[in-house]
Amino acid sequence: MKPTAVDHIGIAVKSIEEALTFWEKTLGISCTGVEEVSEQKVKTAFLPLGDTEIELLEPTAEDSPVAKFIEKKGEGIHHLAIRVENLEEALETMKARGMRLIDEKPRYGAGGAKIAFVHPKTAGGVLLELSERE
Ligand code: ZN
Repeated sequence: MKPTAVDHIGIAVKSIEEALTFWEKTLGISCTGVEEVSEQKVKTAFLPLGDTEIELLEPTAEDSPVAKFIEKKGEGIHHLAIRVENLEEALETMKARGMRLIDEKPRYGAGGAKIAFVHPKTAGGVLLELSERE
C-alpha cells in the first residue's frame, strides 16, 4: 500500500453555516463547496488548504454516525484521511496486517472519491479514512 498524502482532516460540527464563520471569516480559508452524502447522513463542506483540505461534517439525521460522535465527544476532529493509490489493495493489506476495517469494500465519498474507514481501535485511536481519488 502506498500512502501519498494527508487527503483531508474531517471535523464534526453541529452546523456548517455556523462553523464557516470561524473557518472562513476568522481564519480566511474559503469553502469551495457543500455536498450532501446521503449514504453517511452528512452534509460536507470542503475548505482546501495547501495540499490538503479541511472537511466539515454536519449530520443530517439523528442516527448519523457524526451525530452520535458529537453527542459523545462534542464538536471537533472526527477523522484523518490518508490518500492511497489503490484503495482495494490498501484494504487487503490492512486486513492482512490485522487491522479492523469498518468498510471492507470502498464506498462513495464526497467529491467522487472512493473511501473506506478503519476502526480507531486498531489505528492508534484515530478514525482513519483511506481515500482514493482519480
Ligand atoms: Zn473524510
